[in-house]
Amino acid sequence: MNYQNILEEIQEEIKPFLEEGALADYIPALENVNGNDFAMSIITLNGEEFHIGCSDKNFSIQSISKVFTFTLALQNYGRKLYERVGHEPSGDPFNSLVQLEYENGIPRNPFINAGAIVTTDRLISIYKDNTFHEVLKFIKNASNYNTIGYDEEIFKSELSHGFMNLALINMMKSFKNIDNETNRVIETYFKQCSILMTTKQLAHAMLFLANHGVNPLTNEVLVSESKAKRINSVMLTCGHYDASGDFAYRVGLPGKSGVGGGIVAIVPKKMAICVYSPKLNKQGNSLVGTKALELFTTKTGLSIF
Ligand code: GLN
Repeated sequence: MNYQNILEEIQEEIKPFLEEGALADYIPALENVNGNDFAMSIITLNGEEFHIGCSDKNFSIQSISKVFTFTLALQNYGRKLYERVGHEPSGDPFNSLVQLEYENGIPRNPFINAGAIVTTDRLISIYKDNTFHEVLKFIKNASNYNTIGYDEEIFKSELSHGFMNLALINMMKSFKNIDNETNRVIETYFKQCSILMTTKQLAHAMLFLANHGVNPLTNEVLVSESKAKRINSVMLTCGHYDASGDFAYRVGLPGKSGVGGGIVAIVPKKMAICVYSPKLNKQGNSLVGTKALELFTTKTGLSIF
């Protein structure tokens, strides 16, 4: 299959959709991007790379960071993690408060905000003040890129506008589902969201999930085969919040989006993909990114279904 040709076709076919959608504006610093940017990267298990568009441009990974924190928390706690966070789809928006009260402060899954805040709290209980450093170290190691960092302006912007997240963490604290000090947890969570990466780096960082937990380029085991299976299944069922069903229907791959406009997707035993286009659909997922992945699985037949 000529993946480079397929990427070129996709770049042409998504052009009309670049007009649609809107940038995330509830975090003001996320609006400082070019709304028409588009990039897509594919890395196969044998290390072949295919890229189109601005694949070397940094963007804010936002909720894609939840894949890394879930992986680290699962590595450390195993099944015990599920005493604090579930693995069922929520059917609600990423920052919804409603379900959390009915369900006694236990978030439905680690890919909605409440769930990722809980996994960050779990990590702080182990790594203390080194938590952000450990998350970044995991990402650098998984991607094999040493220069990855976070954006201070986006971090500060979210810190001063993240009202829903403050509500979520305070509610969970009142249900005793947050052990550490709320400011410390929320700051670490926001810092993780403000990590900057390119589509090329993110596709590299996700390769272990396409290969039973082992980075195929370094042979390093990042997580057990069984845990890699679980992470992929939670990505498939929960990775796009209340649009997870729609993403599975249209794309048919485990995937995780972020409000920065990135989406990662896994083709099991074959490749990792990352697409970037910052304008979002109503559920807060990249509109063109979803379209590009839909075109990809339609053209290649590489959906898991
Ligand atoms: N930092 C964002 C938030 O907490 C992440 C949300 C997302 O990417 N869906 O609101």
